[in-house]
Order: sequence, then C-alpha cells, then structure tokens
Amino acid sequence: MEPTTDLAAKTLDAHTRLNELYGVQAIYGRADPMHELVGTILSHRTTHQNEVTAYRTMRERFPTWEAVRDAPLADLIDSIKTANYPEVKAPYIQNLLTQLIRERGAANIDFLAELTTEEAMKWLTDLPGIGLKTATLLLLFNFKRPVLPVDTHVHRVTQRLGLIGPKVSAEKAHAILLAYLPQDAEVLFNFHKHFYWHGQRTCTWYYPKCHECVLREMCDFYHAGGRMVLSSTPTRAKAK
Ligand code: SF4
Repeated sequence: MEPTTDLAAKTLDAHTRLNELYGVQAIYGRADPMHELVGTILSHRTTHQNEVTAYRTMRERFPTWEAVRDAPLADLIDSIKTANYPEVKAPYIQNLLTQLIRERGAANIDFLAELTTEEAMKWLTDLPGIGLKTATLLLLFNFKRPVLPVDTHVHRVTQRLGLIGPKVSAEKAHAILLAYLPQDAEVLFNFHKHFYWHGQRTCTWYYPKCHECVLREMCDFYHAGGRMVLSSTPTRAKAK
C-alpha cells in the first residue's frame, strides 16, 4: 500500500481528472428533505426510475406522512413494490415516521440544520434502516455538510484505482476518502457525483471500459490486468 500522502495526492489527481471530464456543479438535491430521506431508503438496490415510481405511487395512495405511517403494512408494501425489497423498506419507513412524529411532533427533518454535522449524523444513523450512506447523502445534498457518501459505484472505482485497500468496506471508505479531500461540501459533492457517474458509465461491474478511461494510467486494477481480488468487484470482471 502506498503511503497516505501519496494516496491523498492520487485521490486529488483522480478528482481533478473527473472534474475536467464531467464538469464542476453546484450542489443540488430534492427540495424536500423528507422526500430525499424516504427516496434514499427506496433507492437501495433499485434503479432510479423504479424508485421514482415507488415514491410517487406511495404518495398518491397515502397523501400525508401520517397516512403512510398508519397504512396497513401489506398496502404500503404493495404501493412501493417497484422498489426492490419492499417488504423490508415499508417497515423501515413506518418506523422512521413513527419515531419522527413522536419525537418532533411532525414528519419534518428541517431541524437537522440546527445540529452540528456529528449530531445530525448520529440522529440519522440511530434511526431504523438509516445507514451511513443514506445519512451522508441527505446531509451533503440537502444540508450542504462536508461528508462523503460512498455508494457501490464510488466504492468500486476508488478501490480499483487503489485509493482504498482491497478489503476496505464501503462503510470504512467514507472516513478514509474524506481524510484525503478538502472538507468542503461542494468538492465532496462533485467527488461523489463524478465517481458515481464514472462507475455507472465507464468503470462498470463486469466489463470496465478501461480503454476509454481517463484514470487508466493511475489505476491499479488496469495495471494488474483485472487480476485483483477486491471486496467491491466480482471476480469475473475483466479490464478491457
Ligand atoms: Fe475502472 Fe478501468 Fe478506469 Fe480503472 S482504468 S478506473 S478499472 S475503467
């Protein structure tokens, strides 16, 4: 493994190249933080379009958050069935709403703006079904806090490059990558978005398009001809 200073420089170099490729953007998120929070729960292992359909159908059938909370579980599961694992996600959503309304008097998380980043992160990750990825997405996109969401694409691309070790989990990668980057929400937003897009479009699961990748010369996976065992990558993947 390279020394930490080298990895920080390599991380910034990769970030600069993807900024040039995809362009730097201002932070954007859904206007309603509750939509972002529940939408992120629905999005787990689900395509964007299916998440959007699940959210819309749920809100059409249960127009208020109280109605979502009180819905018969089977009906709520049915309303979000375009999302994968609806039988897991529906209880998470109802438990979240029950706790939120009981503690705060309304299904509204605007109060997070008044908390420190650490306090907001703890409050969110203490909720049932809310992990580090969901909490960091919400705090970065909606509250412009300097945190770094690591989803499956960010995890895979940074691991193939060698920015994180071959066995590092997505959960542990949050803190490791964050330490290499400026603590600036806009920088972290662009880092997240660009690595996410790169994983979707170029550094795909089974057949990464290394021949057209702007990160190729700095990529450990490419130089190893795809012969690396990584926690983020299927063993059948080939570097092309
Ligand atoms: Fe992914 Fe290949 Fe690019 Fe490396 S060179 S980041 S494996 S697409």
